Amino acid sequence: MRVPIVAGNWKMHMSSGEAEQLARGIVGSLDGAAGVEIVVCPSFTVLDRVRNVLGDCLVKLGAQNLHWADEGAFTGEVSAGMLLTCGCEYVILGHSERRAWFGETDTTVNQRLRAALSAALKPIVCVGETLEERQSGATERVVRRQVTAGFANVSATEAAGCVVAYEPVWAIGTGMTATPLQAESVHTSIRRVLRELYNDNVARDVRIQYGGSVKPDNAAELFTRPNIDGGLIGGASLEPDSFAAIVKAALQPEI
Ligand code: PEP
Repeated sequence: MRVPIVAGNWKMHMSSGEAEQLARGIVGSLDGAAGVEIVVCPSFTVLDRVRNVLGDCLVKLGAQNLHWADEGAFTGEVSAGMLLTCGCEYVILGHSERRAWFGETDTTVNQRLRAALSAALKPIVCVGETLEERQSGATERVVRRQVTAGFANVSATEAAGCVVAYEPVWAIGTGMTATPLQAESVHTSIRRVLRELYNDNVARDVRIQYGGSVKPDNAAELFTRPNIDGGLIGGASLEPDSFAAIVKAALQPEI
C-alpha cells in the first residue's frame, strides 16, 4: 500500500521572513495530518530557517536540486552532504525548469540521482513531456526515455525508495492541468517501464506524484486515480490554506 506524498516546490520564492511565515502557516494547518507524507522544498538559502520552524512536526524538508560531487570547485552548486546538514530528507531532481533553463539532461539527472541515493536522501525525480511532444504523440516515448536514462545504474532496492513526479511541462504554472485520465495513463506507463527495468515490486512500490497546476479544486479528482500517489505542487504550495486543502485531498479513498 503506497502512502501518498504531497510536496510543495517553493521554487525561487520567499524571502527568509516570508519562508518562515509560510512554514508556520503550513505547520499550523497540517501538523497531525496522518496518512499522507508532506514535504516542503524551499530555496537553499532558507532551508535552515524552515527546518527550525518545522522542528519535529510531521512536515518534512526537501531541497530543489543538488550537485553530484561531494565537494569541489563547483561555484553556485550545493552537495547532498550540505543538504543533509540542513535537515533535508528529500530532494527534487530533474525539474523541467532545470532541464529547460539550466541545461539538465537525462545524464546529469542520473548523476544527481545516484549522488542523492548514496547520501540517503530521498529523490523526487521529475519527468514529463512538452506540449509539442504531446501533440506529436511522443509522450510515452519521452517519459520512457527520461525514466530509463534517469534510473541507469540504480538498483531495484534504491529505485523502490524513489518518488517519480510526472509533470507535463505544458501544465506547469499555466493553469492547464492534465485530465485525470491523461495523468493516470502516463502514470500507468511509468509503472510499466519500472516493471521492465526492475520487477513487479518496484513497479508497485514507487510512488508517482502528478504535478502541473494542481489546485484545491482539481486535486481530489487527480489523486483518487489508482496510480496517482499525491502531487508535486508549485504555485498552490505558497499559500498555507490551499496547500493544506491539496494535502487533505490526497487522503481521499481510491475510486
Ligand atoms: C512545479 O513547478 O513542480 C509545479 C507543479 O508548479 P505548478 O503547481 O505551479 O504548476
